[in-house]
Amino acid sequence: MLRQVLLAASRSDRVRTLVETSPMTRDMVRRFIPGETMDQALDVAGDLTREGLLVTLDVLGEFACDAGQARAMVDHYVELLERLASTGLAQQAEVSLKLTAIGQAFDEDVALENARRVCTAARSAGTTVTLDMEDYEHVDSTLRILMELRRDFPDTGGVVQAYLRRAEEHCAELAYEGSRVRLCKGAYGAPDDVAFTDKAEVDKSYVRCMKVLMGGKGYPMLATHDPRLVDIAGALAVLFDRDPSSFEYQMLYGIRPQEQRRLASQGAQVRVYVAYGDQWYGYFMRRLAERPANLRFFLRSLMSRS
Ligand SMILES: Cc1cc2nc3c(=O)[nH]c(=O)nc-3n(C[C@H](O)[C@H](O)[C@H](O)COP(=O)(O)OP(=O)(O)OC[C@H]3O[C@@H](n4cnc5c(N)ncnc54)[C@H](O)[C@@H]3O)c2cc1C
Repeated sequence: MLRQVLLAASRSDRVRTLVETSPMTRDMVRRFIPGETMDQALDVAGDLTREGLLVTLDVLGEFACDAGQARAMVDHYVELLERLASTGLAQQAEVSLKLTAIGQAFDEDVALENARRVCTAARSAGTTVTLDMEDYEHVDSTLRILMELRRDFPDTGGVVQAYLRRAEEHCAELAYEGSRVRLCKGAYGAPDDVAFTDKAEVDKSYVRCMKVLMGGKGYPMLATHDPRLVDIAGALAVLFDRDPSSFEYQMLYGIRPQEQRRLASQGAQVRVYVAYGDQWYGYFMRRLAERPANLRFFLRSLMSRS
């Protein structure tokens, strides 16, 4: 219930203004978003890679409403990819891309062409792109764009959200040789006929999806902080005789950082998702929605300083 309220608030302009203009929000935001500028993000990426972690960089922003906004986002990604190459980070750092930020919300073809530009820049830099999966209304379109892009850029990563009732089916379709697939629980709201809404059902779906991906021929990217699921992932790697180089764990910047380092110290590949930029509102609200304790902490900090 609280999750639904927060996810609804993530789409409300009034709440947005309230949260964005509160000076107290900053400390909490900084936990999940290390900076607003490309320089800050590259510094953090450099620090993480020196610790043996991999990185995926996400430029915050979603739902571009016209071609100009979408183009500005693509230009930003192209510059970021050039910087990844020139700073020597491209081998350990890739980018994550939200298609609604580059045109999907108003024209699928525009999004596809823009995504091609980002993939071309990534290839020149020597790295890859993963297409984030957003709200359920964009899932089919995102999968279409993914398959189209993979004709020319087969290393483009896709995402499956385990909360979708069709998640296992998506995994089976994507578990082929060379296919990079991130599996996450799903961070958006979705109706009951489309998605499991009960947490235990989502977790069970995640396990079923992991079995398909880990038993398949692709490259699974297991994006979760859930200790039980991380343990099951380790057990499946043994069961399917997977080399540590044939899959990776992924976690968000600011969440379970010790666990990220523990897994890496045991020889696992661990990629940290680093989001940066000034359009942090939607991303931040989804992080609050994932964990009631975050909201309590946030509200306490608001009250204690007011
Ligand atoms: C690398 C990465 C990429 C992602 N990409 C997408 C995407 O493309 N599309 C999409 O819909 N979702 C994406 N997500 C978000 C994902 O769907 C979940 O909403 C999120 O990861 C929380 O689920 P969980 O698996 O960690 O399990 P949960 O059951 O939510 O959490 C398990 C434990 O992790 C810790 N934890 C989890 N979330 C938080 C938090 N916000 N703050 C503090 N502690 C927390 C807590 O200890 C919690 O008990 C991504 C997540 C990751 C890690």
